[in-house]
Amino acid sequence: MPRSLRPAKGSLVNTDVGALKGVGPALGKKLAKLGIETLQDVLFHLPFRYEDRTRVTPIGAVRPGEAYVLEGDVVACDVAYGRRRSLLAYLQDETGKIGLRFYHFSKAQHHNLKTAGRIRCFGEVRSGASGPEIYHPEYSKLSANEPMEEALTPIYPATEGVSQARYRSMAEQVLARLEAHPLEEIVEGSWPLSLNEAIRYLHHPPPDADTSQMLEGIHPAQARLAFEELTAHQVSLRIVRAEIQKLTAPLLNAPAQKYEEARNSFGFKLTNAQARVSAEVAEDMMKPRPSLRLVQGDVGSGKTVIAALAATHTHENNLQTALMAPTELLAEQHFINVSGWLNPLGIKTAWLSGRVTGKKREEELTRIAMGDASVVIGTHALFQKDVHFKSLGLVIVDEQHRFGVHQRLALREKGTDGNSSPHQLVMTATPIPRTLSMSMYADMDVSLIDELPPGRTPITTTVISDEKRDSVISRVADACAEGRQAYWVCTLIEESEALQCQAAETTAEELHKILSDVRIGLVHGRMTSQAKTAVMNEFKAGNLDLLVATTVIEVGVDVPNASLMIIENSERLGLAQLHQLRGRIGRGSAASNCVLLYKKPLGKISRERLEVMRQSNDGFFIAERDLKIRGPGELLGARQSGALQFRIADLMRDQAMLQDVRRTAQALLEESPDEADRLVRRWIKDPERVGQV
Ligand code: ADP
Ligand code: MG
Repeated sequence: MPRSLRPAKGSLVNTDVGALKGVGPALGKKLAKLGIETLQDVLFHLPFRYEDRTRVTPIGAVRPGEAYVLEGDVVACDVAYGRRRSLLAYLQDETGKIGLRFYHFSKAQHHNLKTAGRIRCFGEVRSGASGPEIYHPEYSKLSANEPMEEALTPIYPATEGVSQARYRSMAEQVLARLEAHPLEEIVEGSWPLSLNEAIRYLHHPPPDADTSQMLEGIHPAQARLAFEELTAHQVSLRIVRAEIQKLTAPLLNAPAQKYEEARNSFGFKLTNAQARVSAEVAEDMMKPRPSLRLVQGDVGSGKTVIAALAATHTHENNLQTALMAPTELLAEQHFINVSGWLNPLGIKTAWLSGRVTGKKREEELTRIAMGDASVVIGTHALFQKDVHFKSLGLVIVDEQHRFGVHQRLALREKGTDGNSSPHQLVMTATPIPRTLSMSMYADMDVSLIDELPPGRTPITTTVISDEKRDSVISRVADACAEGRQAYWVCTLIEESEALQCQAAETTAEELHKILSDVRIGLVHGRMTSQAKTAVMNEFKAGNLDLLVATTVIEVGVDVPNASLMIIENSERLGLAQLHQLRGRIGRGSAASNCVLLYKKPLGKISRERLEVMRQSNDGFFIAERDLKIRGPGELLGARQSGALQFRIADLMRDQAMLQDVRRTAQALLEESPDEADRLVRRWIKDPERVGQV
């Protein structure tokens, strides 16, 4: 076995991508941006899904949510004027008919498609306005005996500026060298395939590959690599943790008078869970080692006060706190809340975001460097190079799943000088089952806020077809007439943010026409932060009754008087996201209602999922049910809950491996640190950064 082989000359680890045919300096640069520099890197940029273009499916047999190759005759092709203008063609075979819809099209395309006759097309089927439809399918005129693909088609993750075909050709070239220069087998186990075989399988599935296993992500080749990737992460987390344990951290005294004052400044009594968790956080900082704690608490459980108390504790010890949130909107809400609580106690706050520029920014930077500001709140802007803290004692990161591990580490570095590092607190509303959090955050302690503040009235959720949109609109009118405030959330079928914003604009106009007495505001991702904040503040102040929004309001927006929420196209959203959105209401004492609008026809799984939302307000319950209903193998799970961007592993799906992964990582680190290091470098780009901290 080449187990202990050191990488030799000509090995894939040592050869630059430039050695491949067709890869010049320009392409090399684009690849470098994706972290692809060596031939080994090419192979570890794994396909994240597969398309089955090996066979033609009868149109009558298609189901929404799946992608198919279809063949048939174009029987109609006209411009449709719905809420948005589109080109709608129908494709027909002996078994049925399906709509092909294009939102972007030219006159020429319209003409060509109309006269195309028999075509072959490929795309994902959705339930559209006219029944089953494919949006923007790929298609081509069908000449006689056009060959089909022989095997599954690998689809690579975003390769900006590098086409799928180009990437496939690169991967093929590297595979051709694999026999002569095999990859080092580092993680051993009782696998039916070696690493080299598994890699080959995934980039170039053989024609007889088990399609359904591959599409589900549970083929042994995939499992083999997922195991190795998880092991690499586990190893790197252990290295980080060991490094951090060598550092010292500011040793804080027990919370004192200001802390008590802060507790009394909230205007409410802490819940038992909040009291317990804030005590755990305080204990952490009374030890001389850098702590790292994950605070998990459902939407609305009151995580912000935990942050405010920890910051006060840090202030009492003449140290600063950095509080970072993923969006400007959320960061600003934190700034307003925390300043409101702490400024009256003489604890000064500073504000940094991409929007703070010029003189104002200089001033804030000076206040931070001089130590005048105790609590610095903001977005990513907090960890830019020119931000220097006088004495950073604590880093708080809110809604952690939006940040990568690396950003977290970069912020920690701010206060790290040689052998000392700040404490760190990470807050998240994403429910992560305990077994998972232990592995995924192997470097963290976990606290749970398992209780909501009292006096909340549970949210009643109803699921309604958008055919009854009119009655929902009049319900909004009634609610606003009673002085309630409402959100109307536009989520669009389209992936593009621009289109989503456009939909929100259209909806706001439409509602404005119908509801002339209702004061309507609009926020979406394409507005400037300033404009967004202005509208939010108006809504918060009660000067607007209805806020039409895109999912930008998903995270952390807090307007207690809002008690009605309408969510469009709810069947297209993940349950975790729906739960986050819905958590914007039910924050005051008024009974709250959430209306989930959906488009017919609703498939069985979608129906079940919306039913879960109707039944429960409990984030953990919802996450678990979601996992059960969708079953393993759903990539979305990892993407939604994952702080870590894995290439192939899926924490939910691969849960059963985790114990073995931990053992393997530990053994590897003990027996062969060099191999462990090469394993990490293979899977994780920029491991230096991880190692440094
Ligand atoms: P999270 O960030 O966990 O979703 P927030 O910190 O935004 O929740 O708190 C949600 C709302 O609950 C805020 O309006 C906050 O002021 C309020 N709140 C927090 N803790 C309590 C409590 N113990 N009693 C009453 N209200 C509370
Ligand atoms: Mg929050």
